[in-house]
Amino acid sequence: MSVVVTGAASGIGAAVAAALPGAIALDVAPADGVRPFDVTDASAWAALAGELRADPPRGLVHCAGTTLRARLGEVTAEAFAGVHAVNVLGPLLGIQALAPLMPPGASIVVVGSLAALQGHYPVAYTTSKWAVRGLVRAASLELGPRGIRVNAVHPGFIDTPMTASAPAAFRAAAIAETPLGRAGTAAEVAAVVRFLLTDAAAFVTGAEIPVDGGASGHGGAKSVSDALRKA
Ligand code: NAP
Repeated sequence: MSVVVTGAASGIGAAVAAALPGAIALDVAPADGVRPFDVTDASAWAALAGELRADPPRGLVHCAGTTLRARLGEVTAEAFAGVHAVNVLGPLLGIQALAPLMPPGASIVVVGSLAALQGHYPVAYTTSKWAVRGLVRAASLELGPRGIRVNAVHPGFIDTPMTASAPAAFRAAAIAETPLGRAGTAAEVAAVVRFLLTDAAAFVTGAEIPVDGGASGHGGAKSVSDALRKA
């Protein structure tokens, strides 16, 4: 039995697929061993479900995502909907299509974000990631009786092509808020995703695990601690 991984051409999704031999890798972006696939396309999910019916996947990992750094006063309705289509509708469509095939013991992981635990300024991205939290909790409730687990992983600042496009000030400020004092790696996120796919996490569902170097843990108190340490 295999694991379906979206967003597998790049960054965290590529690391997850690399950690899971035999993964069915999907992405809109081209890459070796990755099947062209748009997570917002319900007919593509239906076709995939048809193909996998005879040998259903044991796991589904949603890494496909898009960011938009427009602020509250700048974001357009169209751009807002586009971000939500990839980050929220995509995981919903994937769960709707594949969960009915998945056996007891199967595991679904959706990659959220540290932005889902804070009031991060890019409003379309932040609201989409908060919506992922609701999706994971509702789906865990719905699928628990069938023995299917659904969890979220919330990465902090991770060095990937997505964050490479951020201004240098963004990276520096994010790391300044991170107690471990560095960016994370895609492999460090993939390791936690992999744990959630295994039976070692057999009683974990509806949960959210930050993989953020402690950034969500201090609730804004890091600057106070740092200032007093210096003083
Ligand atoms: P990434 O390197 O940009 O990878 C995301 C992949 O998803 C890209 O290949 C992208 O293709 C693909 N994608 C976008 N729209 C898609 C669609 N409609 N259907 C299928 N694939 C699509 O980003 P990443 O940093 O690895 O991010 C992976 C996930 O982690 C995202 O959900 C992101 O929000 C989340 N995350 C990342 C960080 C971080 O610091 N890197 C932090 C918190 C959360 P294109 O490049 O062609 O758009």
